[in-house]
Amino acid sequence: MMFDEKSIDLGGLWLDEATKAGRSQTLYLQKLGRQSDWGHETDPIDTRVESAVAAVFRPDDSAFSLYQIGSYPELSSVIAGLPANREKPRQNIDVIVFTHAELVSAGITVLSDVPGELGCVAANRLHVDIESDNRDSYATLCRQAMSGGRTVRRFKKKSEVSQIVSAQEAYGCEAFAGNGNCPCH
Ligand SMILES: [Zn+2]
Repeated sequence: MMFDEKSIDLGGLWLDEATKAGRSQTLYLQKLGRQSDWGHETDPIDTRVESAVAAVFRPDDSAFSLYQIGSYPELSSVIAGLPANREKPRQNIDVIVFTHAELVSAGITVLSDVPGELGCVAANRLHVDIESDNRDSYATLCRQAMSGGRTVRRFKKKSEVSQIVSAQEAYGCEAFAGNGNCPCH
């Protein structure tokens, strides 16, 4: 696949096959509208949390889309699939990643049986909704991740996204081919 490295840094959490095999750390990837949505480590934590929650977990929405990532092929499907419905599939993609344990301990429910709406069948299978009856859960989640040094992972247009998209196109991923027969699994 696209990533030659044995592990890939997803903003302070590492995707690697060994971790996946142990199933100790399922990662959930959330696309950000803007890199600045996550604030900066030099910001005061209270205001940083407040503005991140307002930007990433908007109060008008009751559920939020994340993608469960456990391997390089899964990461590729999602990174390629996220912008594929747009006019320009090759663009910077900013994501923040949480662990399953972080979501649960913040009081957030993960609904894994909610298919995504991207072009790629494989990416859609990895889609989950998260929700909580208590808005404070999202502040708890952000505070926990920020305190642990979690950063935005930018997949750069030129060095990463273009390669991933080209590989998925060549592979025949339906997000690009529109052939009704996505080979991704
Ligand atoms: Zn696909």
